Amino acid sequence: MEEFLNDLPKLAKDKHKENKTFFTKLKKKAPKQLDYIMQELHEAEFKKTDCLTCANCCKTTGPLFTDKDVQRIAKHFRQKPQQFIDTYLRLDEENDYVLQSVPCTFLGADNYCSIYDVRPKACAEFPHTDRKKFQQISNLTLKNVAICPAAFNIVEEMKKRIKY
Ligand code: SF4
Ligand code: SF4
Repeated sequence: MEEFLNDLPKLAKDKHKENKTFFTKLKKKAPKQLDYIMQELHEAEFKKTDCLTCANCCKTTGPLFTDKDVQRIAKHFRQKPQQFIDTYLRLDEENDYVLQSVPCTFLGADNYCSIYDVRPKACAEFPHTDRKKFQQISNLTLKNVAICPAAFNIVEEMKKRIKY
């Protein structure tokens, strides 16, 4: 996994043009069974990829924290939401709450998330490869393939499966 993670930014860069063309076509004409295909590809990929050997998303990018996330996690720490915000979060350029620093403060040395049961929704859903109408998050996915080995592999499989 470590070697793959080291190579991933370059691999993603090499595939960027091809991926961009593919997603432009996907947005114009998504197959009717796209949700089903994505579910299948997502499940197959995460059967072989163990996030605990990776944690690259937690190490290199942070999630957005919604108001609900803040309330839930603050409650978990028995803090007031504002206390939690002041300790761990900052506002980004788009006025969203994000982590003050990466790797994420809640990531353990063993790659376990110490707030797993109450983690932000964005963490639970990352890399979003099983979401419905996947073509709507093409731009985000183009970025995620450089961070997430599973997303990279899933996009490679998509291109084999959906021919234009
Ligand atoms: S979601 Fe992707 S980047 Fe995050 S730990 Fe799993 S494989 Fe790695
Ligand atoms: S909250 Fe947990 S899952 Fe989310 S980035 Fe931090 S360690 Fe990873």
